[in-house]
Amino acid sequence: MQYDQDITRANDVAAQAFDRMKHEGIPPAPTNFEVWYVYFANVNQDLKTELNAIRAANGKITAQDCLMLHQKYLSENRHQDLYQKAGDQIHSALQDVSGLMNNVREATTEYSGTLESVTQKISTVKSPEDIKKVMESVAKDTAKMLEQNKKLEDQLSKSSRAMDELKHDLERVRREAMTDGLTGLSNRKSFDDQIKSLADSCIQEGKTFTLLMVDIDHFKSFNDNFGHQVGDQVLRLVARTLTDGVKGKDFAARYGGEEFAILLPDTNLNGGVIVGDNLRKTLATKEIVNRASGEHLGKITMSVGAAQFYPGEDTESLIERADAALYTAKHNGRNQVAAAPTPVLSSQKKA
Ligand code: GH3
Ligand code: MG
Ligand code: MG
Repeated sequence: MQYDQDITRANDVAAQAFDRMKHEGIPPAPTNFEVWYVYFANVNQDLKTELNAIRAANGKITAQDCLMLHQKYLSENRHQDLYQKAGDQIHSALQDVSGLMNNVREATTEYSGTLESVTQKISTVKSPEDIKKVMESVAKDTAKMLEQNKKLEDQLSKSSRAMDELKHDLERVRREAMTDGLTGLSNRKSFDDQIKSLADSCIQEGKTFTLLMVDIDHFKSFNDNFGHQVGDQVLRLVARTLTDGVKGKDFAARYGGEEFAILLPDTNLNGGVIVGDNLRKTLATKEIVNRASGEHLGKITMSVGAAQFYPGEDTESLIERADAALYTAKHNGRNQVAAAPTPVLSSQKKA
């Protein structure tokens, strides 16, 4: 789990965690503290949702609930446990199914023997009484066969339900590893993977893309004036503005604290500047309202640095150029987009 390194904010979140543990009568042991810290730092929405649901259902949260939430969402072993559980479940499902398949195979062989002997007997029957007997024995074996098939069917649907559940858990872990807990955007790790694979495919296919680095203007003073909870609300608003404002293959991520990064495939620098400017204008029109008090807090703006990828430069240098353009946008007065000049690549430099 990644936590914000800002000391004021960390103190604020820690104080809320302690107060709440005291209020709920939970001992401030490290695991309990981590659960409540994560809760107030807003970095894991799944944990927060489940904790709220437990509280709504039971009217309180116990140390036992904290332990369960810690094991499920925060423990270092949680992925290990899940992989172990996945392995065990798959193993036991396969064993159950293969045992039943054997039973079915035996029953099928028996049943085909029954049918063969019935075929012979039927040719020699002498009376309706004989036919009745033969049919009764077929009916009995057919019922046995159907019962075996039913068992197999039940087992298969039980296994398939268990597999679905497992798939769901693994998907949650995968998503959690790639998602920023506060905003729901892709996180830094996901961005690092994405920019590398986009650069590789652009080199192979002779295409280009533009990177936008986005930073909220004067966010520190906004935080200081209105508090970190409202700051978090603004981060979510900016994240939503970015995801709503980009389309299709475009990719928006939270790069760090109050910085965001957007990848625009098949887009040149001019196109990137237009997208960045539209996003900037959209954010600048939004009025911030404190969700808790309803108070209007004014507007917030952002600055954007745009840089187009050129085959031959590495992604670190592209990010540096976008960052430098962002710095220019800040320097020139904020609430604007600046474009990075074309880079001088080492292959073009004079010896
Ligand atoms: P500038 O216009 O030059 O970008 O000024 P700024 O105040 O936005 O920049 P600075 O880098 O000085 O401050 C960034 C602030 O963002 C400091 C930190 O408290 C805040 N911040 C970073 N991450 C979070 C977060 O997750 N939640 C909240 N509420 N604030 C955060
Ligand atoms: Mg910043
Ligand atoms: Mg800033």
